[in-house]
Amino acid sequence: MTKENLKSWIPVDKNSDFPIQNLPFGIFSPPKEVIAKHDKAIDILPRVGVAIGGHVLDLLELKKTGVFNALKFDTNVFAKSSLNDFIALGKKTTSAVRERISKLLEERNPELRDDEKAKEKVLHKMSEVEMLLPVKIGDYTDFYSSMEHAKNVGTMFRDPANALLPNWKHLPVGYHGRASSIVVSGTNFHRPKGQIKPVDSETPIFSPTRSLDFELEMAFIIGKETKLGESISTKDAEDYIFGMVLFNDWSARDIQQWEYIPLGPFLGKNFCSSISPWIVTMDALEPFRVAGPKQEPEVLPYLQFEGKKNYDINLEVCIQPEPLNLNPETTVVSKSNFKYMYWNMCQQLAHHTVNGCNIRVGDLMASGTISGSTPDSYGSMLELTWKGTKPIKLSDGSERKFINDNDTVIMRGYCEKENLKIGFGEMKGKILSAIP
Ligand code: CA
Repeated sequence: MTKENLKSWIPVDKNSDFPIQNLPFGIFSPPKEVIAKHDKAIDILPRVGVAIGGHVLDLLELKKTGVFNALKFDTNVFAKSSLNDFIALGKKTTSAVRERISKLLEERNPELRDDEKAKEKVLHKMSEVEMLLPVKIGDYTDFYSSMEHAKNVGTMFRDPANALLPNWKHLPVGYHGRASSIVVSGTNFHRPKGQIKPVDSETPIFSPTRSLDFELEMAFIIGKETKLGESISTKDAEDYIFGMVLFNDWSARDIQQWEYIPLGPFLGKNFCSSISPWIVTMDALEPFRVAGPKQEPEVLPYLQFEGKKNYDINLEVCIQPEPLNLNPETTVVSKSNFKYMYWNMCQQLAHHTVNGCNIRVGDLMASGTISGSTPDSYGSMLELTWKGTKPIKLSDGSERKFINDNDTVIMRGYCEKENLKIGFGEMKGKILSAIP
């Protein structure tokens, strides 16, 4: 049986992001009902889960059934509030765990399918559990690897004739971000305040941001550490990538514009970034490899690579204003694709470590805003409304230049071919009014 034809005995809707071919990993808190009835402290701990259809498979409970015994690893990694220890077991083990789960959930396998008592313990409805931040992120790096985005921003803020700076096609530009303010989907936050300099003012003022924006990005999670002084080649880079998440790198454009010279992004960026709760493994994304854009001029040898290193991942962004009734209207404001990235993840990692900078398990590397070539595929409000000059109309009739208070921004990502859909789930965050 080919992987595409695999089916689980757990019913999975054909539009679900989580068929048996996906099996992403996350961290969750058990359902309230389980917590209320618990008798041991360990029963209420956050733990590792795997998404399957509308359910979460509880690996802390599942290990008790002995299904992982043959794999010989320390199953205490499932009783943790982050995936770091599990990921640090190495890809050989984590892939074997995923394979074992795939076998267990396959429709003809009776092991768990016919064990009603065990099923009740190890399967939770996704709607009844709380998803937590999946990894403890030590360091966060943000790249700037979409040429369309870099061109759009260069055109708006500098010079349309020289939109890309001279280094852009020679190296994947990036900066070190802030890990402490990365939150999981569903975490709402207050509109940030700071220094802005309105065009009609000689001096800066202190104000809540007037141009709060999203940045549609994806990020990869480091799965293997290096030592200080070591570099990773583009050929070996995939060994170091555990999986991917959706990433919204919220930005305050007015704060950013006033502060960024000469050292780059700071308070306009570090107030909040959101990630989706499920880490989709590179194994699951394998069928969706594609070639990236042709790189011209030729890059330096340490950035050269062989094979297909981009991934065909459809991305979309929706805005949902505060609902006035029970049926909140959402408007899709952008449709993009991860395959547009000019610089791929292997090149980003090779560049990041070429000077000997070490990386650690759980580090997060973001792509930078992912924009396509058409105006409906731009990955930020800055570009979609062209710096606020072309407001977007939402389906409830209201207009947006940037994100308003009480707006929820929702991002989705999925790969699709023939009968196979591998998705990332939904990522959302709502903007609350500034704290007075
Ligand atoms: Ca960014």
